[in-house]
Amino acid sequence: MNQLHVFFFPFLAQGHMIPTLDMAKLFISRGVKTTIIATPGFDKQVENARESGFNIGMHVLEFPPEKSELPDEIKSLDQISDDLMPTFAEALELLQEPVEKLPEEFHPDCLVADPFFPWAADSAAKFDIPRLVFHGTCCLSLCSSEHMRIYEPFKNVSSDSEQFVLPNLPHELKFTRLQVMFHFDQEETENDFTKRFIKIQESETRSYGVLVNSFYELESDYADHYRKVLRKKAWHIGPLLLWSKGGEEYKAQRGKESAIDEHECLEWLNSKEPNSVVYICFGSIATFTAKQLHEIARGLEISGQKFIWIVRKVKNQKEDGKENWLPEGFEKRTKDKGLIIRGWAPQLLILQNKAIGVFVTHCGWNSMLEGVCSGVPMVTWPVFAEQFYNEKLVTDVLRIGVSVGSKQWKRTGSEGIEREAIDKAIRHIMEGEEGSEMRSRAQEYKEKARKAVEEDGSSYTDLSALLEELRAIKVGQ
Ligand code: UDP
Repeated sequence: MNQLHVFFFPFLAQGHMIPTLDMAKLFISRGVKTTIIATPGFDKQVENARESGFNIGMHVLEFPPEKSELPDEIKSLDQISDDLMPTFAEALELLQEPVEKLPEEFHPDCLVADPFFPWAADSAAKFDIPRLVFHGTCCLSLCSSEHMRIYEPFKNVSSDSEQFVLPNLPHELKFTRLQVMFHFDQEETENDFTKRFIKIQESETRSYGVLVNSFYELESDYADHYRKVLRKKAWHIGPLLLWSKGGEEYKAQRGKESAIDEHECLEWLNSKEPNSVVYICFGSIATFTAKQLHEIARGLEISGQKFIWIVRKVKNQKEDGKENWLPEGFEKRTKDKGLIIRGWAPQLLILQNKAIGVFVTHCGWNSMLEGVCSGVPMVTWPVFAEQFYNEKLVTDVLRIGVSVGSKQWKRTGSEGIEREAIDKAIRHIMEGEEGSEMRSRAQEYKEKARKAVEEDGSSYTDLSALLEELRAIKVGQ
């Protein structure tokens, strides 16, 4: 059999599973057999993707693994509090053994695995197949992260809030220690996290290369820098979301089941003028304090704009579960202007509606790409992970967004942005001349994204090159 068979092993989070499913669809469209290694809680999603007309194979592993101390109900990263992180990380290590049983039986030709499974490089080596790393972020962020590690510019400032420039990148990108604190251990000792980070980096050097969910025209300086200066072997094969095929119904249920009927949501949007609605959503993991949500509500109200606001779990919610974050009478006052969705929203469908005028985003890479592919300018509000890097691509490099002024990296219970800043950033885009220029530029990138995945587009060609290499390796074996 000459058909390539690729195994995909995504991290246990929506921001990783969603693009992996799109990637599997893309590979299938290029004649590759694909199998996803899934865990309970995500298997339904793979089923949905299969039902949308793509023959994706699946193996479901037990999770939490039997030997793990993780409570049984934990299935994904968004359920993990900070204190459970080490136990979660240990549970991920325990997946190595069951994963290594699969190639014996199914003989894949390649393993695409998340960086959070550093042992995947060893697993692939045992079966003599290449391991590819899929970070699920942009190239600017990959370059920034490497430069932060190499140059350690955060050591040259005297306070956590003093800005420093990240040296030797194509643009002058400025950060503070507060925004990139996951990079270093303040106690100057090797903690659990830094050890894990080093393991991840070592594993990458033992891998065959890196798949990037981005396209050359979006960040050509960084794609070149990554390959030529940092000497990484990488293929830009995105935006993968353009492979989120399977009809409107599939798009509506992308990720989790939507908390609102998609028809109701679209009907609401269709009754609004083009570019007149603010869409505000912070992804699948980040949480805010009740105080911060209160400020968002106030900011939206002062801005006078129409809005769709997605609210997930709230940190510091009153024990009786009563909502304490909405200003008194807010929903009544904004009843004709706004829609609050509590839970999961059909984000891609919403963003692609012409009524959306600005996307207030936490700068998760999937969300940002969805914004780019919908031609929507953004208000950037990074919260944690590599989001402070992603922000710079939109605000400093592409100039299709404005920052709300987020100052501190915090995984849960984020706060600190006042209503005035929210109102100002939103109105800057919705009402200002600069906002329309950003919208025009965003529309240009939308078009470039579409072209990148067309036959002979940059992402199409990059994937052809990769598949050719993988076929050559397979034949050589
Ligand atoms: N998403 C969604 N509905 C929601 C929240 C998120 O469809 O209510 C999707 C969003 O479209 C994106 C993914 O979940 O594809 C979130 O990934 P991202 O990288 O933006 O952020 P993360 O959740 O990893 O922080």
